[in-house]
Amino acid sequence: MDNRESKKVTKKITVSGIVQGVGFRPFVYNIAKKHGIPGTVRNIGGLVEIILQSSEEKYNDFLKDLKENPPYGSKIINIETEDIKEREFRGFRIIESRDDEEISIIPPDLPVCESCERELFSEANRRFLNPFINCMSCGARYTIIEELPYDRHNTTMRDFDMCPSCREEYTSPKNRRFHAQTISCYDCGPYLIFNNLTDDNELTENDAFEEAAKIIESGGIIAVKGIGGYHFACSPFKEDTVLKLRELKGREAKPFAIMFESVDSIRQYCIVSEKEEGLLKSNARPIVLLYLKNGSMAPSACQGSIYCGAFLPYTPLQMLLIKRCGPLIMTSANISNKPIIKDDQEMLSLKSPLLNGVLYNKRRIVRSVDDSVAKVVDSTPQLVRRSRGYVPYPVFCPNDKKELQIFAAGGDLKASFCLYKNGNAVMSQYFGDLEERTVLERYKASVKDLCHLLKITPDIAVCDMHPNYYSAKFAQSLDIPLIYVQHHHAHIASVMAEHHLEGQVIGVAFDGTGYGTDGQIWGGEFLICEGAEFKRAAHLRYTPVLGGDASMRDAAKTAVCFLISSGLDQYIKDERKNIIKAALKNNINTVLTSSMGRLFDAVSSLLGIRHENRYEGECAAMLEKEAVLALRKGIEPKKIAFEINQKSDLIEIDPKPVLESLCHHRYSAGIDSLALGFHYAVADIILKVCEIIRKEQNINTIALSGGVFQNTVLMERVLKLLRDKYFNVYYNVSVPPNDGSIGLGQTFIGLER
Ligand code: ZN
Ligand code: ZN
Ligand code: FE
Repeated sequence: MDNRESKKVTKKITVSGIVQGVGFRPFVYNIAKKHGIPGTVRNIGGLVEIILQSSEEKYNDFLKDLKENPPYGSKIINIETEDIKEREFRGFRIIESRDDEEISIIPPDLPVCESCERELFSEANRRFLNPFINCMSCGARYTIIEELPYDRHNTTMRDFDMCPSCREEYTSPKNRRFHAQTISCYDCGPYLIFNNLTDDNELTENDAFEEAAKIIESGGIIAVKGIGGYHFACSPFKEDTVLKLRELKGREAKPFAIMFESVDSIRQYCIVSEKEEGLLKSNARPIVLLYLKNGSMAPSACQGSIYCGAFLPYTPLQMLLIKRCGPLIMTSANISNKPIIKDDQEMLSLKSPLLNGVLYNKRRIVRSVDDSVAKVVDSTPQLVRRSRGYVPYPVFCPNDKKELQIFAAGGDLKASFCLYKNGNAVMSQYFGDLEERTVLERYKASVKDLCHLLKITPDIAVCDMHPNYYSAKFAQSLDIPLIYVQHHHAHIASVMAEHHLEGQVIGVAFDGTGYGTDGQIWGGEFLICEGAEFKRAAHLRYTPVLGGDASMRDAAKTAVCFLISSGLDQYIKDERKNIIKAALKNNINTVLTSSMGRLFDAVSSLLGIRHENRYEGECAAMLEKEAVLALRKGIEPKKIAFEINQKSDLIEIDPKPVLESLCHHRYSAGIDSLALGFHYAVADIILKVCEIIRKEQNINTIALSGGVFQNTVLMERVLKLLRDKYFNVYYNVSVPPNDGSIGLGQTFIGLER
């Protein structure tokens, strides 16, 4: 007997976090065996419950192993231990799952792990080149779970009978596929199918793969079934092909994401820092926005952007395709603004001469999830679109109101709702813009789906104040108590929620558009926020602009409106000057806006950079590009400054001197120097206003949010300025700064009320 043996303890250990669907029970089994400890382990709801009996020393060794080497893909949030009554055990066993009322943390979908990747390319392995290889720590999860607990019969893998060899692995505790619910092989399926969309002859397995690869190599476009839906795949090097893809998708100009075999391969085209490499390789395998080196990609792939959205393969099939064909454009298979296609029948019935085939399999996708998009700013990974790999992992919002369950509808653009229960705020996947009917339908269906999966029955709903928001109308239709939250307040509250901020906060919310408490369109806001309350402290001066979607797109028109309202008519070259002036004068379709996003559009047009937003934020992105080029060339920014008008307790920021200076120097100074000067002027005014507020109200904490803060040049400048003056600055990290954060902010306010 071990001479360390002492008093015997019987313990119940409850582990919460991402502990289901990642091989946690087999992991526990193995460490218990290693220490010779008898007991049991099981899933209850989303938790793992371990009961064991051992000496105190062995128990401590067990806990140490549990905490220090958790399996790939898992994340322990909390471990609770409790002494229980002594009882009889026969060895250590994994026992049947029990359903439970606890909130369940469902694992996000996981990329191919290193062990599976090795097997995928080792000839001797029985899963050599199998496009569906997976194990207990990798593969589809969230997208194939129909019910909890996470067990094979509750996933769409129940459509495939386990073959004897897989069953053997599944039931052998020493095997790394022990209790791997998604276990599969050549014998049990799923298997690859290729459909050329012209006749009924489908190719299967290797023939299917070969045919698809050949089509891609010869400049064709195919649809490939992935984890959360289909992708359109094609070469990024063939200009004709990329133009065809734009036509097929109905996407005019937005850059396409490109999948590469490895980080080394990405480095041939993009600049990759160490942090960015980490992000690319992280379990979520997001699309990472990287600075593009010049040339070599087809011009239409990235459309003059300085960024390339690059990512690494996360399914075995993607690994095989890219190894064979080289880098590929992998863009969500959807048509214009419709949702990503996930069902085989829908994909196969898309008859377009531009699409040359569909490479798929018969494993059903329960819920669609787009690829996530992220970048590194201020040496920190930041999400731009939070979806596959992150959803449904919760944001933890500790609160006393444990019993309260909340549905927060989010916003209408980049829609994503939020469900709250027991301190966990679960943000849904990204849906797109709810104005598109099919997106709205998927959004509504997903609310039902996630409420069911997470066993949430909301007591209250929270939504935006905008009278025409579809998300708000949906929240109203639920017939439960409803809280309305101002858009920019929600932006700031999302930062407070993420960073658990308490007390007063100066919120700087800069974005394109949000409905204000005065019925005007806000978007250049300084709010003083505390708990569920806020007060507007400063804003960009109201500018009358022409309303409607067409006007949002038309940056040249926006520029004219800004010049007119600043009394700078002499600089207007646009031939529509008089018509626009008359419309503004007679109040035809006119709205007042304090939007910083619109000012970025106007400046982009004034400087002759871009006059039209062919996709959301194009003008601002191209303006940022000029600023980046100036920084790279070491060009001095033109000195430009906003003016401040203090009106009783509300500060107004006047863009007139900025616009005047830009117009004045438009042909004498470099565009890059002016673009950088504008970015710095925006950063300067943020500092200046925050300093005034700090002086008056003694608030030292700042929260930055809103789509404008996706601008890296602005963000890095403003962080530096504020930190130099000893402000504590927070911004969105685990939810995007754009309207993807609204749901979380609404939830926070719902909890605080
Ligand atoms: Zn694996
Ligand atoms: Zn099998
Ligand atoms: Fe917004």
